[in-house]
Amino acid sequence: MADSKSVASMFACNVFNQTVMRERLPKNVFKTVMQTKKLGIALGSNVADVVANAMKDWAIEKGATHYTHWFHPMTGVTAEKHDAFISPNSDGTVILEFSGKELVKGEPDASSFPSGGLRATFEARGYTAWDPTSDAFIKDGTLYIPTAFCSYTGEILDKKTPLLRSMDVLSEQALRILRLFGNTTATRVLSTAGAEQEYFLVDKGLYDQREDLIITGRTLFGAKPPKGQELEDHYFGNIKERVAAYMHELDEELWKLGIPAKTKHNEVAPAQHELAPVFETSNIASDHNQLTMELMKKIALKHGLVCLLHEKPFAGVNGSGKHNNWSIASNDGQNLLDPGDTPTENTQFLTFLVAFIKAVNKYSDLLRLSAASAGNDHRLGANEAPPAIVSMFIGDELQALLDALENDTKAEVNSNVKFKIGVDALPSFKKDNTDRNRTSPMAFTGNKFEFRMLGSADSISCTNVMMNTIIADVLCEFADELEGAKDFNGKLKEILVKAYKENKNIIFNGNGYSDEWVKEATEVRGLPNYVSTVDCLPQYLADKNVQMFEKFKIYSKVEIASRTEILLENYTKVINIEALTMVDMAKKQIYPAVMDYTKDVCSALASMKSVGIENPTQEKLANKLSSSLKCLDAAVGELEQALINAKDASEDIYKLSRFYRDEVFSKMQSLRAVADELETIVSEKYWPFPVYSDLLFRV
Ligand code: ADP
Ligand code: MG
Repeated sequence: MADSKSVASMFACNVFNQTVMRERLPKNVFKTVMQTKKLGIALGSNVADVVANAMKDWAIEKGATHYTHWFHPMTGVTAEKHDAFISPNSDGTVILEFSGKELVKGEPDASSFPSGGLRATFEARGYTAWDPTSDAFIKDGTLYIPTAFCSYTGEILDKKTPLLRSMDVLSEQALRILRLFGNTTATRVLSTAGAEQEYFLVDKGLYDQREDLIITGRTLFGAKPPKGQELEDHYFGNIKERVAAYMHELDEELWKLGIPAKTKHNEVAPAQHELAPVFETSNIASDHNQLTMELMKKIALKHGLVCLLHEKPFAGVNGSGKHNNWSIASNDGQNLLDPGDTPTENTQFLTFLVAFIKAVNKYSDLLRLSAASAGNDHRLGANEAPPAIVSMFIGDELQALLDALENDTKAEVNSNVKFKIGVDALPSFKKDNTDRNRTSPMAFTGNKFEFRMLGSADSISCTNVMMNTIIADVLCEFADELEGAKDFNGKLKEILVKAYKENKNIIFNGNGYSDEWVKEATEVRGLPNYVSTVDCLPQYLADKNVQMFEKFKIYSKVEIASRTEILLENYTKVINIEALTMVDMAKKQIYPAVMDYTKDVCSALASMKSVGIENPTQEKLANKLSSSLKCLDAAVGELEQALINAKDASEDIYKLSRFYRDEVFSKMQSLRAVADELETIVSEKYWPFPVYSDLLFRV
């Protein structure tokens, strides 16, 4: 195990980062690359050759033989195609080569990646383009080059391109605001993200006996065990040896890739854990979160464990989420969501805060749909994760302050700080998180927002695209009005008061898990409640959303339509696979187990009867088993029929996905209920796969 000294030398040892580049690149080339990284300026092709060569030499010294353009297609997992560095000579030998052209651009066949109808198969070419803002790294003897992925005709097919675009847009609009506050030093504003990642670990031997876990990542059957999470003894509890060894190795492998894994602990549900990294710029945090998920799974196998990243692997205990902590920072060292200490900082902070309040209210549907998937539908609104209704927590102190601003009164908070715009006063915030609201989908936590709707398996990319773009949209609106204003402070106050007044509806500091909130939110406040994936995804194409994305050139309408289609298709495919797996397990595993057990119960009953012993208990059991099997068979039949009907339900993916939710998914629930009841009466000797108490407690 690594000691404290080796941790420092281990950190980022497999990353072609600034330190390595400074050592290995000519000074002028190094400077150009740094400019590119910091300001997002494109790199000239002459420079690319030099960088590629240095990268190759470094990679080969580290034992790499191949390179790959690594990208994030819409599948949700990353993709890679490996090429060896070799280039044959005429004399039958090879040299190892890597050109600037190969670094900058790749041409993988794009035809088998989801495109939502964007790319006809006859034009299957796709391009990957180097993203110099995210460092190349070595993994498994291969040099990985982070890239963006688009079609031959330029439509984007990945999750990185829109994120990079949204970061540019945010930078541009935030800088306009900073200039208005007299800032002349910042030249770039970046969004930052820290993704807390929850996961489950189960024993590999047990996992291998469950077809549902292998195929779908979640248990499709399983009765409640006698013990769940009710004793609250797992949260922050001490970590079992095997799990601790796993966490150690995971940390080390992440550190080698320059991923700043920081915090680890047990989570609320048994067998559930969490890892939180130190935050980084959104793009890098997104790349690193993908790598983290990949390594979590890979390293678990070495410890005889399987890491489940599904949002709801087990019914009855908490599912796993991913919290996207998000802020914006300028490259002259300010966190723009930090209230600051001076009146100017305070006022600037309030401007960004109110802009975000307006953005979240106007585009709450986009935030909701950035967390939508078949798996996450099990969590949102299920009293363990935020409701499907988007609201914001800013805390009572900040709210009192904004109320005072709106009403032109003094805030009822202790403070001696004056606003530039003439009102009292920004309190010094309690920055510790003790009174944090853990039930809000979007909680202000002192100097950042924590978006808590994401599921554990989600990429953080889409959410960050939304957060960056929606605030940029409002900042742009503010800047448009302010730039021409004669009386800056007067105008600013007017804008902030108006925006707050019109959007404070979205602020809710109470318990987001309560039923009263759902009632108040929907009936009194009129906030949208998109309960499931199929409810919210069509909102992607709402006029206001298309207008915003097109205005800032994040997505074209065609690209949004394609994304919506891809996500809905994914939803129907996931449910289809789950339903088929249930039918298979019911017929091939549960039926035979129940029949075997019934047979043995009945023959025991018959032999007892033959010697004159009456056994009403056994008779009752035999009857119950036989009637339950009949119910099981009926439930399987109904599910199978629903799947047949789904085939002709509709060509239209919007209608088809609704059919899957309303017809197929509900039949799955019914089948599960019968099977789970059978599990509680069939002897464990006969039950065909490990049950919840095995999976959750035998790690
Ligand atoms: P909690 O579990 O209380 O939410 P954690 O410490 O587990 O807190 O996680 C907080 C996360 O927020 C960490 O990943 C941290 O790096 C991240 N974070 C802190 N400051 C910022 C910031 N300015 N921008 C983005 N993320 C941040
Ligand atoms: Mg958190």
